[in-house]
Amino acid sequence: MYFCMGLTEPDSGTNTLEVRSFASADGNGWRLNGRKIWITGVPEADKMLVVARTKKIEDVERKTDGLSMFMIDVKREGLTHAAIEKLGTNTLASSNVYFENVRIEGSELIGTLHRGWNELLDVLNTERIVTTAGCVASGRLATRLGVEYAKERKVFRGTPIGAYQGIQFPLAQAHAELECARLMNYKAATLHDQGKPFGSEANTAKLIASQAASTLIERAMQTMGGMGFARESHLERLWRDARLFRFAPVSEEMILNFIAQHDLGLPRSY
Ligand SMILES: Cc1cc2nc3c(=O)[nH]c(=O)nc-3n(C[C@H](O)[C@H](O)[C@H](O)COP(=O)(O)OP(=O)(O)OC[C@H]3O[C@@H](n4cnc5c(N)ncnc54)[C@H](O)[C@@H]3O)c2cc1C
Repeated sequence: MYFCMGLTEPDSGTNTLEVRSFASADGNGWRLNGRKIWITGVPEADKMLVVARTKKIEDVERKTDGLSMFMIDVKREGLTHAAIEKLGTNTLASSNVYFENVRIEGSELIGTLHRGWNELLDVLNTERIVTTAGCVASGRLATRLGVEYAKERKVFRGTPIGAYQGIQFPLAQAHAELECARLMNYKAATLHDQGKPFGSEANTAKLIASQAASTLIERAMQTMGGMGFARESHLERLWRDARLFRFAPVSEEMILNFIAQHDLGLPRSY
């Protein structure tokens, strides 16, 4: 069974606590109304994990109260979706999703009614571990493509371009960062498996992995010159796809906000 993640909304964006999709009580279940944006894999998924308010934000003491998660069928009356044309990650569509009086059964609640916020963070932090693994893999593929090319390609006096420090150093720097992110991701995954808090590690790994992968892919393209721009080289696809992970599923800025606040104890800036 495949499921997609229905969190982001057009109006609230990164400010998840202000999602507007609302599930109102209806007998032993709920009726869902609202809209999501950028939901990836909807046509392929059997289920959607929907994050919705079950109490209006103006009716709760703390904004973190009144959020709930539901796992519903994608093919359900009142749920429609339309793909958005996008730059990369075109292996799966990303869609606008509309809920119009969608029936949710009582058994489709995931976790605790009205108290889904902390449970959602566990889902999101786990997704960060997976995202980091993807960034590490993309960065490594780009490194391999760039290094293999740099060893072979000779432009002046029979010297391979890979012998120039101008080519080597940026690749070596980003490679070192990517390896650190990979190890930090293992730490996050280990803590997750041990049932311990892993948010700081998962966020740190995702921040560095997405930046290092982007740099490696960019530098591999520079190393390959025109060939990096050719469709057949794979790099142009990696280059387009890598850009996404600087701001999704969580942006660099929000991770830095998290590290500043939770790891360094600085005041919340927003
Ligand atoms: C291809 C693609 C696939 C996606 N797939 C999914 C999916 O499957 N499910 C899903 O739920 N979502 C999905 N998303 C949504 C993605 O998670 C969001 O785009 C991302 O979280 C950023 O939200 P936003 O686009 O609303 O940006 P906004 O929240 O509007 O932010 C815009 C910019 O402002 C910055 N910013 C905002 N607040 C602050 C602050 N306090 N301090 C500093 N900077 C700030 C952000 O960091 C960002 O750079 C996908 C997006 C894309 C593009």
